[in-house]
Amino acid sequence: MMLFLRTLPGIRGHTITLGKIRFSSTLAFIEATRDGKVSIPSMSAIHAAQKLKNPITAIIIGSHAPGIAKQLQSSSTDLGLQEILVAEDATLNTYLPEVVTPLLQNVLGTVDKYTHFVMANSSIGKNIIPRLAAVLNYQAICDVTEILDATTFKRPIYAGNAIATIGSQQKLNMITVRPSSFSITKQVQKNMISPNIPIKQVQTSEVNDDIKWESDALLDNDKRPDLTSAKTVITGGVSLKDKEHFESLLDPLANTLNAAVGATRAAVDGGFCDNSLQIGQTGKIVAPDLYVAIGVSGAIQHLAGMKGSKVVVAINKDADAPIFKVADYGLQGDLFDIVPELTEKLQEMQS
Ligand SMILES: Cc1cc2nc3c(=O)[nH]c(=O)nc-3n(C[C@H](O)[C@H](O)[C@H](O)COP(=O)(O)OP(=O)(O)OC[C@H]3O[C@@H](n4cnc5c(N)ncnc54)[C@H](O)[C@@H]3O)c2cc1C
Repeated sequence: MMLFLRTLPGIRGHTITLGKIRFSSTLAFIEATRDGKVSIPSMSAIHAAQKLKNPITAIIIGSHAPGIAKQLQSSSTDLGLQEILVAEDATLNTYLPEVVTPLLQNVLGTVDKYTHFVMANSSIGKNIIPRLAAVLNYQAICDVTEILDATTFKRPIYAGNAIATIGSQQKLNMITVRPSSFSITKQVQKNMISPNIPIKQVQTSEVNDDIKWESDALLDNDKRPDLTSAKTVITGGVSLKDKEHFESLLDPLANTLNAAVGATRAAVDGGFCDNSLQIGQTGKIVAPDLYVAIGVSGAIQHLAGMKGSKVVVAINKDADAPIFKVADYGLQGDLFDIVPELTEKLQEMQS
């Protein structure tokens, strides 16, 4: 909604426009999991949107959208949503930026309603936001870790070695938020604000034929907890020697602890695992309750992706390895002896 104030005659015959008062309003982008649930990073996006203290509209796209809208509507916690927009279209399931951008451009660009657009700094968010911000001609503010107020945000720079405080005077603030910084901890009682959230359909745009999603392959790791939101992460370094050792040592331990598996860039470059497992400055950011670093030196670029972890366990044969400086528990020794023994002991404890 928009209010117009009157235009006053100004000094020396000029006209001073006192301007328009726009009510603040946030559009939060919700990602679906493969089985049609709200992704955990998207719950963090909603949590971040709540901190902006504006009315929140959620937008959900793809064939799971109506089901997810119903889930949000009947959520046992009050998410502070005022409205849910649904674009049910299977071509949006892949979240290809070329396909999603025209739709979001339409919603954000044609209605002068939203002052904020929030999405998780997930692979999907990182893929979509640059294109969307470019077409709408705004500066995206990415990987926000703290919202001070509706126009002031904190985000890490220089691989997390400094924190920038960004003041924005943009008409539309397009932000991606780091999921681990906005985890939902407090359960708010339902029905405090909006018991019946209206669901509205959004017109989908014409599909861009130039870009086509060819195929989809599910990695074994995709069957495990999502790396960015897992409570336990087991990470292997290049010292695991090769793909066979990486899998034969880490998988049983990860299965025992119901953990996600991560890797250093050196391990990814060595072809031990898919690059979606990389943690660090140029990989994923994780902040689990328990992070187990196996044969990881603790290079600054790696620490940038995991130093928010609550408890860090490091296994390394070098007592001077930098990872021990951030570790709560350190095991100095050969990982090829320690890891099988640790896995066995944990399995014994569970049986
Ligand atoms: C621009 C840039 C971006 C980067 N981004 C990332 C990133 O996102 N993520 C990332 O991880 N890296 C990143 N890197 C690379 C980073 O600098 C390191 O090279 C990398 O993290 C090292 O991986 P590593 O710990 O597996 O290997 P190494 O540094 O070689 O460490 C191996 C460790 O294993 C120990 N070890 C060896 N054998 C055993 C054994 N048998 N038992 C126990 N311990 C053993 C060694 O003591 C050593 O500490 C980036 C680098 C640059 C320049």
